[in-house]
Amino acid sequence: MTKVSGAPFQARPLPPDLVDRLRRAGILLVKGKPLSSATTFGVGGPADGWVEPGSVAQVQAVLRACREAGVPVAVVGKGANQLAADEGFRGLIVHLSGALAQLRLHGGRLTAGGGAILRRASALTVRAGLTGMEKLAGIPSSVGGALAMNAGCYGQEIGDAVEWVLASDWEGNLRRFKRGELTFGYRTSPLRGPWLVLYAGLRLKPAPPGAVKEDALAILRRRRDTLPWGRSAGSVFKNPPGMKARELIARCGLAGTRIGGVWLHDKHTNTILNTGGATAADIAALISLIQEKVEAETGILLEPEVQRLGF
Ligand SMILES: Cc1cc2nc3c(=O)[nH]c(=O)nc-3n(C[C@H](O)[C@H](O)[C@H](O)COP(=O)(O)OP(=O)(O)OC[C@H]3O[C@@H](n4cnc5c(N)ncnc54)[C@H](O)[C@@H]3O)c2cc1C
Repeated sequence: MTKVSGAPFQARPLPPDLVDRLRRAGILLVKGKPLSSATTFGVGGPADGWVEPGSVAQVQAVLRACREAGVPVAVVGKGANQLAADEGFRGLIVHLSGALAQLRLHGGRLTAGGGAILRRASALTVRAGLTGMEKLAGIPSSVGGALAMNAGCYGQEIGDAVEWVLASDWEGNLRRFKRGELTFGYRTSPLRGPWLVLYAGLRLKPAPPGAVKEDALAILRRRRDTLPWGRSAGSVFKNPPGMKARELIARCGLAGTRIGGVWLHDKHTNTILNTGGATAADIAALISLIQEKVEAETGILLEPEVQRLGF
């Protein structure tokens, strides 16, 4: 049971048929896992169910069983860009594991499971003297989450390296996308929403090994020295074209605003931190407050980068 502001939020039992089908498919079901433990904001109530399928067949079994039982499904990678509701999630969360979290490098081609850790993928390519992922070294992410968000920094985005993607729709039907079929944009991806990324093929280019390693280390140092520490989801809002969200927010005098245990960083004004005891409702309230004030003063409606789960 998760308690927020004195109110208990409980997971609901899943249909027995679904539980039975998961058991028969060899998939361990965790009931009532608090999403605060699965997201970097550190907030969020219980999910009715949490499963960690380790193969394409297991993912298909989960999705088909949930579809037939009428149970909603969502995917959580590293939870580094999701705000989970205090009430939690009424349905089943899929978190990819096993073979779906592995990495294989052949020459300049990386095959990554959707659940693989982006930092490890970046490190593997850097060690092999390949360029294309070195700037992603410090982003907390799964490969699937990165492809869903088109994660990037310092001018490099994961979408640029994609050669193919194997994904499933929510009914368990598979599709292999070729590069030309996927158009990635600034923190947007055609994969977020309709698809669950199972595997991706990424194409990297050879580079002088010393140089690419030095680039990755420089990025990591820069991130360590400049980014705020604490429980957050990184940047809360996307930058509007030609502008910086943090500058618009600072201009409106919002730096350092607090709601409960939630703090809008006083220097990194596009980062909201859980300083202890925060609730998802407080974070959502601060996001709305920022949007309203910035829109009232500048006419610009900031678009959240952070995704909501269970709201
Ligand atoms: C300290 C910090 C620094 C950050 N810095 C950066 C940065 O420099 N650049 C940047 O781009 N982001 C940054 N972020 C945000 C975050 O790291 C990225 O958005 C990351 O790609 C999210 O990946 P995830 O695995 O955590 O996805 P989650 O947060 O679990 O999910 C994010 C979205 O992706 C979807 N998703 C997850 N897995 C899959 C899958 N397998 N298939 C389909 N959809 C999926 C979810 O449904 C959700 O909509 C930062 C976050 C933190 C906490």
